[in-house]
Amino acid sequence: MKFWFLYFSFLLVFQNLANAQSKEPPFTVNEIIDKIKQNVKPQWVTTKTDTIVIGNAFDTVTGIATCMFADMNILKRAVAAHCNLIITHEPIFYNATNTIPDFMETDMVLKEKVAYIKEKKLTIFWFHDNAHRNDPDQILQGLAEELKWKIVSTSPWILEVKKKTLTSLANDVKRHFNVEGIRVIGNPNLEVSRVGLVPGLAPTLQMHIGVLHRDDVDVILVGEAREWEDYVYTKDAELQGKKKAAIFIGHLKSEEPGAKYCADWLKTFVNGTNIAFLKNDNYWWSPK
Ligand SMILES: [Zn+2]
Repeated sequence: MKFWFLYFSFLLVFQNLANAQSKEPPFTVNEIIDKIKQNVKPQWVTTKTDTIVIGNAFDTVTGIATCMFADMNILKRAVAAHCNLIITHEPIFYNATNTIPDFMETDMVLKEKVAYIKEKKLTIFWFHDNAHRNDPDQILQGLAEELKWKIVSTSPWILEVKKKTLTSLANDVKRHFNVEGIRVIGNPNLEVSRVGLVPGLAPTLQMHIGVLHRDDVDVILVGEAREWEDYVYTKDAELQGKKKAAIFIGHLKSEEPGAKYCADWLKTFVNGTNIAFLKNDNYWWSPK
C-alpha cells in the first residue's frame, strides 16, 4: 500500500517536472525563476537576496531584461523593449535588504519609482548571491571573458596581460569601460602583468588586500573599496618601494559584464522569450 502510494507520488512529481520542462512559452515569472533555480550550478541556494522584490510571480513574461542597477532609465528601456521581467544584480531600492527603512517610507524618489513599476506592471527579480555562488561565478567569469585577458587562476581570480606600465594598463581599462575619472594608486611607471580581480563591493579585507599582497599579483582591478583599506595599503606599499598598485573603476562597470553573461546564460535554457541585456549609462562625470 505504502509502496504504491510512494510510486504514484513519484510519478506525479515526475510528470509535473516533465511538464514544466516541456511547457511552451509564454512562461510565468515563477516558471522562469524555476528554470533559473534548476540551472544554477552546482545547485540553487535560498538566500535573502535572490527573490522577487516587487511584482507578480504569476504574470506572463513578455520578455526578460538583465541589468546591473535597475534605475529609472533601465525600467523605461525595459518597457520600450516589451520586457516585463527585470533581473537585476543589485538592489533597486537603495538598500541591501528587501526592507524599506522607516525614514524612506515617504521618500519622493522611492515613491515615484515604485509607482512607475506598478503602473507598467513590471516584476523585479534580484539575482545576486546565486549568480556569485554559481560555478563559475557569473560576474567574475563575465568580467574575465569581456577583458579577454589570460585567466591564470579562478581562486582568487587572477588574469595576465602582456607586461606594460601601470599607466598603460590604466589607460586600457579606462578606454575599455569608458568610465570617466577612474582612480589609480601606484607608481605610474611600475611594470605590471598579473591583475587580481576584485569587482563590485567585495565585502572583506581579505578579498582586497589578500589578493594584492600575493607574490603573483602586481595590481588589483577593483569596483569600490573603503578608502582607509585598499587606498592606504596600496599607497603605503608604493611609498615602501613595493611593486603594488590598484585601479578603481566603480561597482557598476566592474560587475556589469556579469549581467551580460547572465542574459547569455538565460538564453541557453529559456526558449521562445525575448531576453535583452540592458547596459547602464555611466553615473558620474568629472569636470574637465
Ligand atoms: Zn556582485
